[in-house]
Amino acid sequence: MSALASSNNRPETSVLVIYTGGTAGMAYNKQGELVPMKFEQIRKKMPELNQLNMHVEVVSLGEPIDSSNVTMADWYKMALLIQENYARYDGFVVLHGTDTMAYSAAALSFLLENLGKTVVFTGAQVPVGGIRTDARRNLITALEIAVARNPTAGTVRVPEVCVFFNDLLIRGNRAKKVESQQYDAFRSENYPPLARAGIELEFNDEQIRLLPAARLHTHQHLDERITLLSLYPGLTERMIRAQLEVEGLRGCVLETYGSGNAPTSAWFLNCLREARERGVQVLNVSQCEEGRVIQGRYETSAQLTDLGIIGGDDITREAAIAKLMFVLGLGRSAAETSRLLTHNLRGEITLG
Ligand code: ASP
Repeated sequence: MSALASSNNRPETSVLVIYTGGTAGMAYNKQGELVPMKFEQIRKKMPELNQLNMHVEVVSLGEPIDSSNVTMADWYKMALLIQENYARYDGFVVLHGTDTMAYSAAALSFLLENLGKTVVFTGAQVPVGGIRTDARRNLITALEIAVARNPTAGTVRVPEVCVFFNDLLIRGNRAKKVESQQYDAFRSENYPPLARAGIELEFNDEQIRLLPAARLHTHQHLDERITLLSLYPGLTERMIRAQLEVEGLRGCVLETYGSGNAPTSAWFLNCLREARERGVQVLNVSQCEEGRVIQGRYETSAQLTDLGIIGGDDITREAAIAKLMFVLGLGRSAAETSRLLTHNLRGEITLG
């Protein structure tokens, strides 16, 4: 773990950048493939970091990675770094690859309970060395957001885990990567942006989650014994059983159609019933990007409720995976686990 001071113009405001890798900090290797560089190389390409009106320190999570390689261990490390440095910095920026940024931001939102400071994930579509890079603008704006204060009360403006990209600040557990070619890579279909970065930073204060002051509680356990079962016409019983009958399985994110609909065939419902009888918690998430799961709206979802399957409301797939891992990781009773899954824990759902 290496730390370095990037600027020291106004030491009373300070940000810790947690560098994990991703395109922002990549360069081409001899084979013409993009691979991550160390942060020192990024810093050389971003002299503006030294002109910022705040104190910025950088810590690398480990060897920089393409975010396709991110693991739960990396999430624990990020959470721990934030906890260990919580009192020393005004805010935190996580420089992360875009591919799994929404998963990591969602996971961190659950791991960091009672968060009272800003944690902004950002990255880029074009490496920092590229002439049309978006890394500079994204990182600089993320740093500004990380230290933003309420103009009147002087309190932290966005005490949330969020994603800043292109011009939008989005709640972390509402974010989705929607673009791999354009600059506007992230969107939140079911929740308004927390801020918009034009010439000015315009905060959408009514949408920002303000919690009563409490001590940060950092969780360090997620249950990885879950699976993601996405429905499509033609999915066979054999395929479903192969996923649901894995030994030790504790949870399943079931990606259904429309407002949470699934086949009504006996064999399909039996697979789910047997999984439920084995204690598998099932969270129903829609394949639609917008809208919500309403079990019981159609006949094709009514039986899911009878099986004790939890409707995921308007949760994203990324947040559903993190939430299921988190709630199962708490090790509560089946009834309490079901109850927590229906609750809005970190602003990840809007209850219908
Ligand atoms: N593959 C890269 C990553 O997720 C993509 C990016 O950063 O934009 O690390």
